[in-house]
Amino acid sequence: MPPDAADVIIQNAQLRTMDPQNPVAEALAIRGNRIVAVGSKTEIMAHEGPDTHVIDGKGGTLMPGFFESHLHILPGGVSLERLNLADISGAEAFEIAVRDFANRYPEAELLIAFGANYTLFGDDTRITRRHLDAAIPDRPFYMIACDFHTGWANTKALKAAGLMQGRDLGPASEVVMDAEGTATGELREAAAMDCIMAIKTAGTREMLGMSGLEPDSVTQAQREEDIAFLTAGMEYCARHGITKLINMDGNRYQLELLAEMEQRGTLSCRIEVPYRIPNNADGDPIGKAVQMTRDFATEKVSCGRVKMFMDGVFDNWTALKLEDYPDRPGYRGAPIVPPALFERLCTQADAAGLQISVHAVGNGAVRHVIDGYAAARAANGPRDSRHRIEHIDNIHPDDIPRMKEIGAVASMQPVHVPGKAGLPLEPTVTLMGRENWPWAFNWRAIHDAGVPICFATDWPISPLDPLHAINCALTRQPWSDDLPDPRLTLDECFEAYTTQGAYAAFDEDRLGSLTPGKLADMVLLEGELSSLHCDGNLQVRPVLTICDGTITYEAS
Ligand SMILES: [Zn+2]
Repeated sequence: MPPDAADVIIQNAQLRTMDPQNPVAEALAIRGNRIVAVGSKTEIMAHEGPDTHVIDGKGGTLMPGFFESHLHILPGGVSLERLNLADISGAEAFEIAVRDFANRYPEAELLIAFGANYTLFGDDTRITRRHLDAAIPDRPFYMIACDFHTGWANTKALKAAGLMQGRDLGPASEVVMDAEGTATGELREAAAMDCIMAIKTAGTREMLGMSGLEPDSVTQAQREEDIAFLTAGMEYCARHGITKLINMDGNRYQLELLAEMEQRGTLSCRIEVPYRIPNNADGDPIGKAVQMTRDFATEKVSCGRVKMFMDGVFDNWTALKLEDYPDRPGYRGAPIVPPALFERLCTQADAAGLQISVHAVGNGAVRHVIDGYAAARAANGPRDSRHRIEHIDNIHPDDIPRMKEIGAVASMQPVHVPGKAGLPLEPTVTLMGRENWPWAFNWRAIHDAGVPICFATDWPISPLDPLHAINCALTRQPWSDDLPDPRLTLDECFEAYTTQGAYAAFDEDRLGSLTPGKLADMVLLEGELSSLHCDGNLQVRPVLTICDGTITYEAS
């Protein structure tokens, strides 16, 4: 028996190590939470001892665990218990789904659905409270758009929230009103949407991290309720082969819960949670982020990042563009954080050694974010900062080399492409503007300019499955024949979910590839990878996930 016998050996697998020094192998050995050897079956079986757990890979593909580089774990965990409207279209299907859901939750103070398409009731129909009232007039009902930037409430919920006559919520949010001065039911962006969530007296803490707020006071029972949501969300991630999560909303409260879970040994993924700087940046947000970074710094739970929003989305005209919206001459959207404040925050965060992630969908928002990062670099001097831009649905071609120049990372979501993953083409592509289509979700141009790309899904905004996201990326069709092919190859997509995800999180020395010495995070896939290139049902799925040397998911 070798003195350094392995705890776990996986053999009879096709290793796709994502390590350019040693790209393919047959077997791998783990001791404790580390990979100790990668090689041929003969080489690896030499590490077998009497207590080694030997797993037969049955010819499957063994890869590094997936990085989900942009998600919302607490809202995700909660979403597993809400009505998902992603596959629902038309009034009839909607009414059946909502009534069934309401019957299942007779006690709920506010019935909440998510994943609603803007075209739920038809391509040219803007949703109002009357559509919702037709399905459920007698209980407060609220539904959230597939991109989480718009909500719609029925009349009962609007009245309960005191919104029927509208409310002024500042420039970034809107209670949409009709010609008679009554709320239509449409609520744009967080401040307006939060008014409806406030109807609930319990269990609304999952959205606080989206605005960078902390709960006022939390009972032990409420903490346990949230820990249960986090646990369910993480188990769902492990089932999809994910081992590291970069959360993209964040407050101290979530980190406290996650640290508690780590102590109990119930974390099934590693997770990084940023501090989401509130839009008005009141107080000392950078100081708070630095303190969170100091207080939470284990191998599984960390901070180290600030998150901000520069704009919203095209479908409700809150994406910030460089040109006018085609249907609204003179209007381009507005930056959520004014440029001078944004530059100051970036400069302070950068000087403190924090990584910055900013939501930017329109080409105008992307430019503002690059300007802020460039200002920070000019003030503090160049460093390996890897500041990230989240989404980049659209970018001006001049800004791609600028991203490269300042060392920025593109965090992109193949499942956000209009016409993919249940999202309709319209009105998004029209509002984006025909002239911008060549630069929409153009992974190829960004990648080939030397800008690192990590992929993610923004779950629960889009479906979590990384293989589904890769399938969306590989099968994307151009919106017209004259557009360039923006797709990456399968290998490049895998890099975006492994090595590049690790790079984007400063994790490349310890995660992202199956390399001896790195932490033992991996996924075993069963089935044909070639099915990732085809439309139709995916023929490949995770059967085993290991995080930190421990099995976190095993298919039955
Ligand atoms: Zn997000």
